Amino acid sequence: MRHLIALLACSLVMASASASDPAPKSSADKATDGKTATVKAILEGKPVAAKTDIKALAAAADTRTAAAAARPAPAAANSSAGEEQSEVELSVRIAERLAQLREQQAARAAAAAKARKAAEAKRRKEAEAAIAAASKPKNGTHWTYEGEYGPANWSNINSAWAKCNTGNRQSPIDLRDGIKVDLEHIAFDYRPSSFSEIDNGHTIQVTVGGGNFLTVGNMTYELQQFHFHRPSEERINGKGTEMVIHFVHRSYEGKLLVLAVLLERGKANPLIQTVWNNLPLEKHQAVSPSILLDPSEALPEKREYFTYMGSLTEPPCTEDVLWIVMKQTMQASPAQMALFSRLYPLNARPIQPSNGRMIKESH
Ligand SMILES: [Zn+2]
Repeated sequence: MRHLIALLACSLVMASASASDPAPKSSADKATDGKTATVKAILEGKPVAAKTDIKALAAAADTRTAAAAARPAPAAANSSAGEEQSEVELSVRIAERLAQLREQQAARAAAAAKARKAAEAKRRKEAEAAIAAASKPKNGTHWTYEGEYGPANWSNINSAWAKCNTGNRQSPIDLRDGIKVDLEHIAFDYRPSSFSEIDNGHTIQVTVGGGNFLTVGNMTYELQQFHFHRPSEERINGKGTEMVIHFVHRSYEGKLLVLAVLLERGKANPLIQTVWNNLPLEKHQAVSPSILLDPSEALPEKREYFTYMGSLTEPPCTEDVLWIVMKQTMQASPAQMALFSRLYPLNARPIQPSNGRMIKESH
């Protein structure tokens, strides 16, 4: 019988060992009475320390065995039946309590598994949200030349502007170590044209009426618009100028060609004066004066140039743009320069890596 109690006690301890119930200090260690009280407490389902359970139950078993041994032999037979009866009762109660503890343990395990599952689901949901946010197309339109919306962040503003930071044929570049060759002659067929003018928030841009052509090699491009940057975006052997005009052309096939004319301080330029005279009063509102404008007034006499393959220098930074940078600079008066600097003191993209691109120049 003692073995039965010890076995049940072990099971009981194993079952209650993981219990997180608070365990007040038991008096079980003090004396056998105390141990008995603990056993009673265990059987009644009261919280006790796990380590005291086994001691108390083992002690209870010892006491019972010792009492049986001390009894005189004649009395043993009489008491034996009563003892068996109480042992059966005790066994039943231990088994009941054991079942109860196992039930509690199973409930705790189920609750812990549920909590783990919920935490895992939450983590997974958060990870999915982060991935979704990262791959969500961005469609911002506001960009600047400095600060948070500046050139280093252009590709983060709009997904369609990725080339601004990932492209390897971007403009502007520092024109140096060019290959000096006989370059194809550029034929300009510019004429006095109607035009509209806008302050688009990044520059002053002049859209010209049709009929202005540039031919280089066997390709003809039509002038679409021209605009200004301060300082010049392009550099020649590390040196820039105070301003530049970009003449943007498109071929019938949709190919882009940008012609850059560098501006230095000197005498007033008639084309620039016409543009300044007709500046719109409001940003983002185009004006269409009733006069004509002749884009050839901004072309240098000498037609030597640098050429390389690059990109638009503002979002979306489209590549596959043929660049022609005229070697001879043009002039604008200090007053003309000062007027633009009041509107746009800085609207130039920084120099981009040339990545070993070929630069050809007239010699
Ligand atoms: Zn430009």
